Amino acid sequence: YHIAVPANEPVLSYAPNSPERKSLQAALHAAKSHVAELPAYIDGKAVFAGQEKVSVHPPHEIAHTLGHFYRGTAGQVHEAIAAALRAKASWAATPWQERAAVFLRAADLLAGPFRARMNAATMLGQSKNAYQAEIDAVAELCDFFRFNAYFLQEIYREQPLHSPSPTWNKLEYRPLEGFVLAITPFNFTSIAANLPAAPALCGNTVVWKPAETQIYSAVVIMELFAAAGLPPGVINLIYTDGPVVGDIVFKHRDFAGLHFTGSTGVFRHLWKEIGANIEKYRSYPRIVGETGGKDFIIAHPDADAEQVAVACLRGAFEYQGQKCSAASRAYLPASLWPTIRERLLADLATLKMGTVEDFSNFINAVIDERAFDKIAAYIDGEKGKAGREIIAGGGHDKSKGYFIEPTVILTEDPHSTTMEEEIFGPVLTVYVYPDADWEKALELVDTTSPYALTGAVFATDRNVIDQATRALANAAGNFYVNDKPTGAVVGQQPFGGARGSGTNDKAGSALNLTRWISPRLIKENF
Ligand code: GLU
Repeated sequence: YHIAVPANEPVLSYAPNSPERKSLQAALHAAKSHVAELPAYIDGKAVFAGQEKVSVHPPHEIAHTLGHFYRGTAGQVHEAIAAALRAKASWAATPWQERAAVFLRAADLLAGPFRARMNAATMLGQSKNAYQAEIDAVAELCDFFRFNAYFLQEIYREQPLHSPSPTWNKLEYRPLEGFVLAITPFNFTSIAANLPAAPALCGNTVVWKPAETQIYSAVVIMELFAAAGLPPGVINLIYTDGPVVGDIVFKHRDFAGLHFTGSTGVFRHLWKEIGANIEKYRSYPRIVGETGGKDFIIAHPDADAEQVAVACLRGAFEYQGQKCSAASRAYLPASLWPTIRERLLADLATLKMGTVEDFSNFINAVIDERAFDKIAAYIDGEKGKAGREIIAGGGHDKSKGYFIEPTVILTEDPHSTTMEEEIFGPVLTVYVYPDADWEKALELVDTTSPYALTGAVFATDRNVIDQATRALANAAGNFYVNDKPTGAVVGQQPFGGARGSGTNDKAGSALNLTRWISPRLIKENF
């Protein structure tokens, strides 16, 4: 048994009249023609119980009901933990090749019969257009499954130990002792699925609490896992409120690890809770988190202005800027600014905003009312302020769906609010620096934000590229030269940030998987 280096799952075009467009349209139609009952899954069984029935709507069409779920109680959390612990012994004892085979099968099912449904669920539930859904819910998720299986194989054979006769030394790659909690975000279906799947691949069993705004596609993920042959109880999906989950999980003796993607504030809070309960655990829990970002683009005067403009547009506005990696502050040289501005505004003027069901829309709704209100308040807060100019967008309307125009704010103050705070929406703030201040601009990039997730530098001179790479050594976990800071591809650009952006255990790499393994060394004399 040998897993060859995988290839990335091809991204389909969804061009008019293509077979993939037709099946996706059929899946969208099917999803909209009935109201789904969305179960939690404990021990492989669908659970509809809970204290409150909650409706799920497409963010672009609030009047339509996609489905209902039932918010769980403390009892649900206890049951999920018990199910995970019951499933543990036999899953941990399953040969890694068989565990890998489950996820490789999941990838093939996702690339085949599940493709249209997973995309449709992600488009409607999370307001992604077809391309954004395809690169996430299909391509990236297939890649996570396939590359992680391959990386696990490489980890398991990595340490040839010296065994001078008469000894035999070996490392046994065990999962952690206990269960893992996965807390996942709305913005990537692939991340939501990978956070429970990566520890499970390594032999752990998992309690998975998704964002309530991602439940619609989470259910399809559970169906995919079941179809791929994942045994009951290995991954248990629950819908209980975060604080209730934390209160039970973080006091449990068998809590062994947290795999988290979400906000910096929540992650810090969870870390403190885990710390406060440290005496209760059998092992020190592994804490792996990817959190916020205030991702930058900086251009040197010798950069290609057109390239910078395209990176600003795609980096800041794809998926309405709701990527941790999205560019939200740009430092652009005065000599290039007129060209960049002209191209950026011209391109923005061609973008259509609307529902995901109309494939010509580039901009769709933001995820929910809370996000809408927060982003709108940031935009409105800058209106009419001295030293600020909204040069594109600025409008918003939540009467039918949560629509916010892609907005570019020009600021004279490199420390203005939208230059410093994470907005998580379609807002790019631009600070234009005098060409002679290139080095000062580098320093501003490094010191303005507590985050260090992604960033991009644009320049052509090799010495300038080297200088920026050195000066910004700690400013981004994913650092892009002459490319936008979003769109990391599994197997090509392992993803994660440091400082306030996370523990930098690179998703989709061997570095992440090792966090879910607790090896035992065995020395035997013979
Ligand atoms: N990996 C994604 C990217 O490179 C971002 C992930 C996130 O938003 O958490 O764009």
